[in-house]
Amino acid sequence: MTVGVLALQGAFVEHESMLEKLGADYFEIRQKKDLERPFDGLILPGGESTVMGKLLYELEMFESIQKKIRSGLPVFGTCAGLILLAKEVENNPSYFGTMSIRVKRNAYGRQLGSFCTEQEFKGIGRIPMSFIRAPYIENVYDDTEILAQADGKIVAARQGNQLVTAFHPEVTDCLEVHTYFLNMIAENR
Ligand code: GLN
Repeated sequence: MTVGVLALQGAFVEHESMLEKLGADYFEIRQKKDLERPFDGLILPGGESTVMGKLLYELEMFESIQKKIRSGLPVFGTCAGLILLAKEVENNPSYFGTMSIRVKRNAYGRQLGSFCTEQEFKGIGRIPMSFIRAPYIENVYDDTEILAQADGKIVAARQGNQLVTAFHPEVTDCLEVHTYFLNMIAENR
């Protein structure tokens, strides 16, 4: 099993070290030709969704990734990655628009919006959650399932092969969410 990690901007190295700890093969997706290599799952890291969105278009990678996600490639989006997948982004354009969620960017405020908490994640149990200028999910629809909430806000969800978290499991010691994603990939193969 090989995971492609979108490595244009943001916290991709942290995801890679989680995959290393779990013994999963991965490679970085930095340019169009990287998308020709076969991979079984894709990680869209945290960072700045507007910058990543812009680079995806400029590097002519947008359509091909969108097509792969639409055809069922398992994908895990954290924070900005969650925003890239959302069908609706409040006051902002959407990007891939593949997941039936409505999100609010910088939902906890821009400067003071970083905090940690511990909450229940469906199918895993209580895990640490680190939020960095995070969005939250205002609403899920169609067959999107809510996996976690913090302070009454939806912070993790799944729809088919798409998994998103508003928090950053890759900056904690908790390997459970990445394990959950690798299981999604294994079930899909
Ligand atoms: N605020 C960022 C955005 O809107 C997301 C922050 C993050 O990924 N840590 O894209």
